Amino acid sequence: MNCSDSIVIVGGGSSGWMTASSLSQFFPNKKITVIESPDIPRIGVGESTLEHFTFWLHSAGINPTDLFRYCDGTYKLSIKFNQFYKKDDKGFHYPFGSSSPDKQIFQELGINAFQYLKWKYPELPNSYFADSYWPAVALCHSNTINFNENKEFANLDLSRAYAFHFDAIMFADYLRDHVCIPRNVQHISSTVTDINLNDDGIESVQLKNGDLVHADLFIDCTGFKSLLLNKLKAEWISYSDIIPNNRAWTARVPYNDIHNQMKNYTDCTALGNGWVWNTPTWSRIGTGYVYSDHYTTPDDALLEFTSHLKAQGYKTSEISSYNDVHFRNGVQKDLWIQNCVAVGLSAGFIEPLESTGLFTTITTIDRLTEILNDDGYNQFQVNEFNILCRANFDGLAKFTASHYMFTQRDDTQYWKDCRTRDYNTHLLPYERDMPPLHSHDYYISEVLTKSYFDCKDKSDNGTSCIMNGMNHMSLNPWQITKDAYYGSGPSLKRLHLMLPDILEKSDRRIQRWNALAKISTNHYEYLRKIYWNAS
Ligand SMILES: Cc1cc2nc3c(=O)[nH]c(=O)nc-3n(C[C@H](O)[C@H](O)[C@H](O)COP(=O)(O)OP(=O)(O)OC[C@H]3O[C@@H](n4cnc5c(N)ncnc54)[C@H](O)[C@@H]3O)c2cc1C
Repeated sequence: MNCSDSIVIVGGGSSGWMTASSLSQFFPNKKITVIESPDIPRIGVGESTLEHFTFWLHSAGINPTDLFRYCDGTYKLSIKFNQFYKKDDKGFHYPFGSSSPDKQIFQELGINAFQYLKWKYPELPNSYFADSYWPAVALCHSNTINFNENKEFANLDLSRAYAFHFDAIMFADYLRDHVCIPRNVQHISSTVTDINLNDDGIESVQLKNGDLVHADLFIDCTGFKSLLLNKLKAEWISYSDIIPNNRAWTARVPYNDIHNQMKNYTDCTALGNGWVWNTPTWSRIGTGYVYSDHYTTPDDALLEFTSHLKAQGYKTSEISSYNDVHFRNGVQKDLWIQNCVAVGLSAGFIEPLESTGLFTTITTIDRLTEILNDDGYNQFQVNEFNILCRANFDGLAKFTASHYMFTQRDDTQYWKDCRTRDYNTHLLPYERDMPPLHSHDYYISEVLTKSYFDCKDKSDNGTSCIMNGMNHMSLNPWQITKDAYYGSGPSLKRLHLMLPDILEKSDRRIQRWNALAKISTNHYEYLRKIYWNAS
């Protein structure tokens, strides 16, 4: 049993201060130190969270209200993906929270109801699935906020089921100054210049200010350089074979129509060689073009990006700078080696399309917290931690890749290659035992689609939104006919009888939700009144 009474976190970006926030909450008696270099800036992106983040705030003892007030926070209820399926498509949502399908329909057809509808009415847009299952999408369409006090929207619970956009730099500063330092986390502002090893791993780190800092456990939050873990001969597993993007131009754009532009969802729009994000914070919009420099030059990518921004109505002349961010998609084979654990970008990263950066930081912190709970750890726990963290990253990498896997775009070499790429790599643990030739088919049909859709009580997963949004149906006419023939699904006669009624009911629900959303409070106005006390 290794003891971990003193913990040193190297790195003061979001992941360093998030780790310190959780550990100081759960282990007030441990000595926790964060070493942050004043000379090496934080990456400064990572401004769009997932729903799980609000639980993390709760677990770390942080009041979500503070995120709005101190970190320029705004609401995020969904992610919208435009033009990933086809160049001119209207996009689809992946909303947070529980879905609210009509109970009666759901009992009989489960989440598959949409796919039966699509079978009978192929002209239904792919966006119809999320539109008809999640009332939150209506709030996205009208850019409003409604806490459902009158219970008019079935299942809508914005007190839990939401995420944030915020300013990444303000976020780390907030955690440092308002959460960690008041809890007696020690903050050292200096740069690690050397790492001293012993048989247990890291013995101490040498600082530029001359100090030598010892600890039982070291946490590497140094960003993409993985300064500490690399010293212990970490092995990096790249996802570049399934996710080609490796670079981003980022910028901050001023509002010129705040009521409309402060969207309550993250907007992602595919361009010729990647995609652009749009994450509105309280005082400006964060945006970036994620692309692959294998397919275009940085100069051409910047041109493509600025043309897109202009077409969106932004005044590009008011953008003070564009930052060139390089990144790598992949994960450490082992996130925990000897007495050193990597958290955040040093542990792994999947390009930001699904906002998984802070999410994987949280899942890593959760697992670490569980283990340290025993007031020590052994190798079995370390091995289990490594397997579970790896599997989490592998699964999310494939999930993210599904936006490229199922595209119908062929307007550039970038998109043509997305359609022909072999995604049959990075198998999940249970897939590893399968014959390689079958694994890809198995993954697509059983893991990504069928097993999700066939499970009648599992309606709230992102996979169903992405698969339906990308028009990848597990229920095709052949399958429906076969299920009807063998009695494992509804008969064709029954389907033809019930589907018109289901469509009518769904249409009515969408209309009702949209009407209610329209008379709800504008997102910007809501934040202004509630968090900024403006009349
Ligand atoms: C283009 C892009 C977009 C992204 N968008 C999202 C998103 O929308 N949502 C999301 O959840 N995630 C996103 N991410 C991921 C997110 O940015 C990171 O998960 C998050 O910022 C955590 O970063 P970090 O703290 O690990 O690293 P960093 O912010 O890079 O921090 C590293 C820290 O280590 C310190 N340091 C480095 N070397 C030393 C040294 N020698 N001595 C002492 N200190 C040192 C630095 O000073 C700094 O404080 C995005 C990432 C990229 C690249």
